[in-house]
Amino acid sequence: MAQIQTLSKNQKIILDIIEKAKEPLKAYSILFNVQKKGIKAPLQVYRALEKLIKLGKIHKVESKNAFVACKSSNCEVSKATAFSICEICEKVTEIANNKLSNFLNSFEDKSGMKYKKYNLEFFGLCKKCKKT
Ligand SMILES: [Zn+2]
Ligand SMILES: [Zn+2]
Repeated sequence: MAQIQTLSKNQKIILDIIEKAKEPLKAYSILFNVQKKGIKAPLQVYRALEKLIKLGKIHKVESKNAFVACKSSNCEVSKATAFSICEICEKVTEIANNKLSNFLNSFEDKSGMKYKKYNLEFFGLCKKCKKT
């Protein structure tokens, strides 16, 4: 269900900040950044974040309580995300792996329960940190 939806001014500003950031941004640092651009109310920021998540433009990295811009252009799913996180430098990368998502989309356990959402985080060492 891909809907072309135009973003509001606030949503655009916030998406822009998250896209330009080199690391996942916490809500308070987003707040700090948007205040310079005239969005003063935290509630406005939280609303825009929620909307951007729903649209699949950004994802929330739960363990970090931080937000990253979606790196995959066909990632319309806001409810199925997977990230790899480096334990040393804390680099967060979105995992786009068809095998994994196909498996997870059809995954059900013995009780027959079907899952609608997942939010996976894999921890390890990135290439750079492995070398040092
Ligand atoms: Zn994504
Ligand atoms: Zn690393």
